[in-house]
Amino acid sequence: MKLLVATSKTQGARENDFDHCVEGELVWIAPCCDDGKDSADSECGCGRSFDGLNSHLGTTTALVAELPGFTYSDYAEAIRSSLATQGWPPEAADDVATGLLAFTSGWEVGTVLERRCEWFAERLVPAPPG
Ligand SMILES: [Zn+2]
Repeated sequence: MKLLVATSKTQGARENDFDHCVEGELVWIAPCCDDGKDSADSECGCGRSFDGLNSHLGTTTALVAELPGFTYSDYAEAIRSSLATQGWPPEAADDVATGLLAFTSGWEVGTVLERRCEWFAERLVPAPPG
């Protein structure tokens, strides 16, 4: 299935990029605070961040990846335990999982995305040198 994972690709394209996640870990799109809603470039960074399900840290770049063998119930369970650990309501996991899958289905595998609050845009990945 197609999912969002943390990537360091295109990091640095924006001056305020950050990537504290583990490369390749699953990420979700957490609700942002009022500052983040006002500006994706807010100091806290939550309006431009995808959040790692394991690290609980953020990255400004996420990759649309195909994870063979990963099932919906694996995904919902990963989200459920991450939400619970972070103090979010775990019963929201199914809604979060369904929402993320619907979101990801609209993008091609290999696409690097950035977040601007409620908007998401593709980042063009430079071709490898050579
Ligand atoms: Zn914030």
